[in-house]
Amino acid sequence: MKQFSCLIHCAKLNRFLAIGFQSRFKNTQKRSRSTLAQGNNDYDLAVIGGGSGGLACAKEAAAYNKKVVVLDYVEPSPIGTQWGLGGTCVNVGCIPKKLMHQASLLGEAIEDSRHYGWRVPPGIDHSWETMVEAVQNHVRSLNWGHRVQLKDKRVEYLNAKGTFVDEHTIKAVMKNGKERKLTAGNVVIATGMRPRYPTDVPGAFEHSITSDDIFSLTKSPGKTLVVGGSYVALECAGFLNGIGLPTTVMVRSICLRGFDQQIAGLVTDHMQAAGVGFLRECVPTRLSKNDDGTIKVIWKSSNREEMSETFDTVLFAIGRDPQTSELGLENTGVILHSNGKMQGKNEQSSVPHIYGIGDILEGGMELTPVAIKAGKLLAHRLFGERSEVMNYEQVATTVFTPLEYGTVGLSEEGAIRIHGEDNIEVYHSFYKPLEYTVPDRSSDQCYMKVVCLREGDQKILGLHVVGPHAGEITQGFAVAVKCGVTYIQLASTVGIHPTSAEDLVKINITKRSGLDPTVTGC
Ligand code: FAD
Ligand code: NDP
Repeated sequence: MKQFSCLIHCAKLNRFLAIGFQSRFKNTQKRSRSTLAQGNNDYDLAVIGGGSGGLACAKEAAAYNKKVVVLDYVEPSPIGTQWGLGGTCVNVGCIPKKLMHQASLLGEAIEDSRHYGWRVPPGIDHSWETMVEAVQNHVRSLNWGHRVQLKDKRVEYLNAKGTFVDEHTIKAVMKNGKERKLTAGNVVIATGMRPRYPTDVPGAFEHSITSDDIFSLTKSPGKTLVVGGSYVALECAGFLNGIGLPTTVMVRSICLRGFDQQIAGLVTDHMQAAGVGFLRECVPTRLSKNDDGTIKVIWKSSNREEMSETFDTVLFAIGRDPQTSELGLENTGVILHSNGKMQGKNEQSSVPHIYGIGDILEGGMELTPVAIKAGKLLAHRLFGERSEVMNYEQVATTVFTPLEYGTVGLSEEGAIRIHGEDNIEVYHSFYKPLEYTVPDRSSDQCYMKVVCLREGDQKILGLHVVGPHAGEITQGFAVAVKCGVTYIQLASTVGIHPTSAEDLVKINITKRSGLDPTVTGC
């Protein structure tokens, strides 16, 4: 019965999406008649920030025959790295990161391929320069694609930095210093975040880089120290090590805070086994440049012991700050949280016609699909007479470490905190991907966990996969979790053989039973 209601839910969703598509299509048809803003403003909508959220919102709004402008401006990084339209994800985030993750996986595949009969000559190596050129060519094609799409959809694009003069007026400062003032009925702030540097580590600002720089370095970073223990730090360390560069991660407390900590441990165990060094409970205290250009890092551990080592590159990945301080928000009455993010309900700020989406929104999630969905839904509510609001619950995500970690819903500790240990059931399984068998790769960290309510049909609260292609696996299951799938429904699903994902539908050992969760056969 519950399975049926899940199907109905999904069917309703499809119908809803189809209606949305039709009505948008009608609106697109009307568009050629008018592109004048309503009221006394120059634009119906001004979007400050041309990243994932801003571009999605602007394009969707324009489809409702509204006059829309997008301002996007990139402040160069401290070492001078700059990029084009599209924001963090396209230029210095998801896209170059995933491509470099792929470069690292290909290295593993080349090694495996020898066992499958490929006669790969010994001593193969990796060219940083070739990888960066290829990745940057793709990034530039995306920058171009975004410009073309804006033009096609009649969104005006200004390569300009936007600041508020008053609640409806924005000053746009172009690259060449020219200024223009424009007014808009509605304003969306989608200015994203930028990497943080430590303020208490002498030499850090002068002698280190961040994720804003790593993907376009023209020279290999060589022996690298990555400071930080979360998504950005582990992903960067993972691909650097994977392409053969000596890599160390310095973690001040735990890795992947907020994620299931048993699984965070498996992710870092795998990285360590693959050769990444970990300095745990350590923080850098000083950086200085040696005569040969290398960087001396002094750090202290939790027992206050001081140590030092020399690296070619130091990459800080210690979090990101919202870009809201230079927006002139003091001229508007928009209230910010103490962390600099915008406060608001349903993306609406304390000033009713000013909205915030994506990374700068307090309580949201710093993920591209979240920014895009929030931006599109906001455009529908502003101009399309639709009411759906963004749901930030049960958003799936993947950490693209060498062994990927895909997750949706609650961690085991999160479920225990909310529901109590006696009220949850945890099913788990270690598994061996078939493709690991021929090269005899270790599958010690390939693991799945399904966290459920204990009573009734056992509604699934959280689902976690560590293993190859975990991102691809998790995306499908995330739909089911969003629809409220239960363990009974999961277990009644017939698997696809031979896949790793099928182990999820076969999962049957509870942690409570204490049985060995290692899968041994078909
Ligand atoms: P952004 O995409 O950051 O866009 C904001 C834009 O506004 C920028 O171009 C900025 O320069 C511009 N801007 C700022 N101030 C002004 C101003 N005053 N005037 C005009 N323009 C301005 N997410 C995922 O979902 N999957 C991933 O795999 C993933 N990997 C990541 C890897 C890294 C290394 C990083 C750093 C992030 C990653 N993310 C990932 C997160 C993702 O990139 C962000 O969540 C997403 O880009 C946020 O979109 P946004 O629209 O809020 O802001
Ligand atoms: P986070 O804020 O998630 O993590 C910051 C890390 O740096 C933590 O490990 C923190 O340790 C550590 N840290 C903070 N300050 C210091 C300091 N002074 N010295 C040493 N260590 C410090 O930032 P990220 O930049 O990793 O990620 C930002 C967001 O970007 C993520 O939340 C995610 O939403 C998004 N993202 C998504 C990706 C994906 O989808 N695959 C990939 C990359 C980013 P502590 O725990 O002790 O505070």
